[in-house]
Amino acid sequence: MSLKLAVYPGSFDPITLGHMDIIRRASGMFDRLIVAVVGNINKKSTFTLEEREALVRRAVEAEHLSNVTFDRYSGLVAEYVKSVGATTLVRGLRAVSDFESEFQMALANRQIYSGADTVFLVTSAEYMYLSSSLVREIGRYGGDIRHIVPACVADDIADKLLKVGV
Ligand code: ADP
Repeated sequence: MSLKLAVYPGSFDPITLGHMDIIRRASGMFDRLIVAVVGNINKKSTFTLEEREALVRRAVEAEHLSNVTFDRYSGLVAEYVKSVGATTLVRGLRAVSDFESEFQMALANRQIYSGADTVFLVTSAEYMYLSSSLVREIGRYGGDIRHIVPACVADDIADKLLKVGV
């Protein structure tokens, strides 16, 4: 039987407890999960690629999920998925508002590479409102973000956001 390899791509600008929830659940569903941080994002990211990747790595390593690895990619995610031999793309769904763009992306990705399917994991209710942009907004004003980002990276995220400021 072939090993089931999945990719969870995102900008992770920065990683939140909502992302961690998806990573934890997906790691239990597949033999191996690659968390892939996108390098080229349309919108300018607040955290650099190196920072985003390091925060993801530290947060996931703290959970000892032994089948999760990390990578970064640029360009089309479907090409990346193909290049690593994965058969599943994992995405999270929070609200109906996520659905339309995610649906469009899933169709586009399958057109580019038909060897992989997108699987959507529905958010856990407590993280439904949670997004990286909310973390950035609260952190920028010096608000407490410890309940919405992984504990081991909370201080570093808060420091950076305070520096970025308003
Ligand atoms: P992107 O810019 O690619 O959407 P994000 O880092 O914002 O990257 O999100 C990556 C994935 O994680 C997306 O599929 C997004 O819907 C999902 N996600 C983000 N926050 C949550 C959350 N709180 N619950 C479930 N899924 C989430």
